[in-house]
Amino acid sequence: MRIVLMGPPGAGKGTQAKVIANHFGIPAISTGDIFRANVAGKTPLGVEAQRYMDAGEYVPDEVTNSMVRDRLAQPDAEPGFLLDGYPRTLAQVQELDSMLADAEQQLDAAVVLTADQDELVARLLSRAETEGRADDTEDVIRHRQEVYAKETAPLIEVYGERGLVISVDGMGEIDAVTHRIFDALENLPG
Ligand code: AMP
Repeated sequence: MRIVLMGPPGAGKGTQAKVIANHFGIPAISTGDIFRANVAGKTPLGVEAQRYMDAGEYVPDEVTNSMVRDRLAQPDAEPGFLLDGYPRTLAQVQELDSMLADAEQQLDAAVVLTADQDELVARLLSRAETEGRADDTEDVIRHRQEVYAKETAPLIEVYGERGLVISVDGMGEIDAVTHRIFDALENLPG
């Protein structure tokens, strides 16, 4: 299984990514997690990425693409993978296409978690408060949603034209959303 998981910030991608990847015995590769680990470790990549992340902007494509290329070249990603939060721009789609072509591989599905954006903003604000994430201000939270709508939502059409999109309602209980995703993946054509 080779899956990309998309959806607006706060839609629960990370949680679902781990469950799906576990089910198929493939690694869940989250570009956000890799960036956060680098920020925590104060690596050059982390230092570069942090200012974009703090501002709710995307890290530049060249930086993100080469990081993903390295990660997908690891042996554990050979049988399959779930990409959580990548690709997020058209340039990243093209780069992923070329990585897959080089490896003579293909995507099986682009799972899109859908959610009401106002509700997401409310959820993220309460999370910022309970987890004491003072850097997650309302402005940054709203900006992330705007960047998603502008840069990433158009990718749904690109993958849709390839017949790869599975749209799943991401609201409600975690288990219910997981069931919806598995149902949709089981009914994949081919
Ligand atoms: P996430 O945890 O997936 O929401 O990612 C956290 C932050 O990492 C994002 O707000 C971006 O700044 C950065 N990031 C994660 N994935 C990407 C990507 N594919 N392209 C550019 N920036 C990314």
